[in-house]
Amino acid sequence: MNAIDTSLSSRPATGNLAGAVADLFGELGLSLADDLGSDLKVFSPIDGSALATLKMHRAADMDTMVANAGAAFLAWKQVPAPHRGELIRRYGQLVREHKEVLSRLLTIENGKILTEARGEVQEVIDICEYAVGLSRQLFGLTIASERAEHRLTEYWHPLGTLGLISAFNFPAAVWAWGTTVALVCGDSAIWKPSEKTPLTALAFGKLLQKAAADYEFAPDHLVRVAIGDAECGGIIADHPGIKIVSATGSVRMGQDVGVRVQRRFGRAVLELGGNNAAIVAPSADIGLALRGTIFAATGTCGQRCTSLRRLIVHDSIRTGFVKRLIATAASLRIGSPLVDETHVGPLIDKAAFDAMQRALEQARREGGIVHGGERIDLEGSPDAYYVRPAIVEMPAQSEIVREETFAPILYVLSYTDIDEAIALQNGVPQGLSSCIFTNDVRESERFQSALGSDCGIVNVNIGTSGAEIGGAFGGEKVTGGGRVSGSDSWKNYMRRVTATVNYSTSLPLAQGVKFDLDID
Ligand code: NAD
Repeated sequence: MNAIDTSLSSRPATGNLAGAVADLFGELGLSLADDLGSDLKVFSPIDGSALATLKMHRAADMDTMVANAGAAFLAWKQVPAPHRGELIRRYGQLVREHKEVLSRLLTIENGKILTEARGEVQEVIDICEYAVGLSRQLFGLTIASERAEHRLTEYWHPLGTLGLISAFNFPAAVWAWGTTVALVCGDSAIWKPSEKTPLTALAFGKLLQKAAADYEFAPDHLVRVAIGDAECGGIIADHPGIKIVSATGSVRMGQDVGVRVQRRFGRAVLELGGNNAAIVAPSADIGLALRGTIFAATGTCGQRCTSLRRLIVHDSIRTGFVKRLIATAASLRIGSPLVDETHVGPLIDKAAFDAMQRALEQARREGGIVHGGERIDLEGSPDAYYVRPAIVEMPAQSEIVREETFAPILYVLSYTDIDEAIALQNGVPQGLSSCIFTNDVRESERFQSALGSDCGIVNVNIGTSGAEIGGAFGGEKVTGGGRVSGSDSWKNYMRRVTATVNYSTSLPLAQGVKFDLDID
């Protein structure tokens, strides 16, 4: 039995996570006083203890918030984009200064190991830099006109208020992906974080509010955090004052939100569940493939949208590869995410643990052989859910393998030729991330081609998780088709204008249409 170490290395051990959270907010120079209430109890997955109880925003509060954000938009869209970028530059600097404090807060509330929390905060810093650069590159097009002495162009204007609904597993980065880009595009923003991670949201949101309050060009109410559950998310989906809804979470949530936003002809950007696979070919560098698959399958305790859930390994190497995989999974250090040596922290809550156990039961019924997957009791934390990651050898891609279970379960399948492997990879409803480990250039190219993976993310000799911010992030099929950030996703946050200017003295009509009138 291991005791949980709640010490925050640079400070005395408190053993009291609620106290640690209060200290961290103090170090950020932020207060939670106005946010405390009796509606929403927030727990730490590290030991199951209560961290705080917050007020939730009700329908009337949301109406006020949306109206204020609408007024902020009218002012903000008049600020030149590079000056809007200056706000994000200052915000990125604040996050950089407080990186360690924010990382610890994120770990305490979400349970991911510190190095991954630091990575997530770094992602927020990186996206700020990206958005600052973008603020000088919101470019349009000039298109050849078919009419003489005409100029045909396309350009982009701010769109309105962004409502961003986010999941618990990336409690800061996903918001920053959307919000920093939307702000440089001239939009205002409301963030409805997961009800499981509202404290991280309040910290990141309040720091941005602080940066805005200190910036002369930023109007009041430019950025707000709405605390609430699915009902609050539903208000955002339905509200005509919110022009873009960016929603990250389960497919079930996206099916509801997508339809509601579409019904009022709002713009929806959906980032939903994945069921990501790795193909390991006979030519693969086996050490690289092992490291890549283990991290992708167990990082964030299998609670990344890009977590590796299916391993499709060639028959000729299956036995040896799976044996090493099982041994490596069994050797991972599981425990408090605040301890540097830990590889795998806890699941978010009991519901996640129950879903994992149900999936393992179903896998057994479908002919699977389960290695690991059991609960690990840590002394003094009966309400925390630590598990040994499970490797499950499956006879076929059965029903449970085709589902996303948000826990560290890796199903193992095998194949004999590459087209069979690609068919297995594509044979699920989700289409987020995929990868192949191979040193065969033909296989690699085939996998990336139109005949290959049908996912939004296609990697070679890299696991399925851990995308960089520069490329567009998102997936196809029931993953929703949205791209929250990266590449040209900024266009989601703006409205396109097509403008034709006639600088001649005649009025030729397009497509040669004649409409002669006797007018001087
Ligand atoms: P979830 O769907 O339970 O909740 C996500 C958010 O949606 C929360 O803020 C929640 O309050 C809100 N919500 C839930 N139902 C809603 C509804 N009907 N209307 C409006 N809002 C609603 O998801 P979760 O458990 O927090 O996160 C895990 C899921 O998120 C996984 O499926 C994972 O793959 C997915 N995810 C996807 C991406 C991506 O980029 N594709 C990134 C992170 C997480």
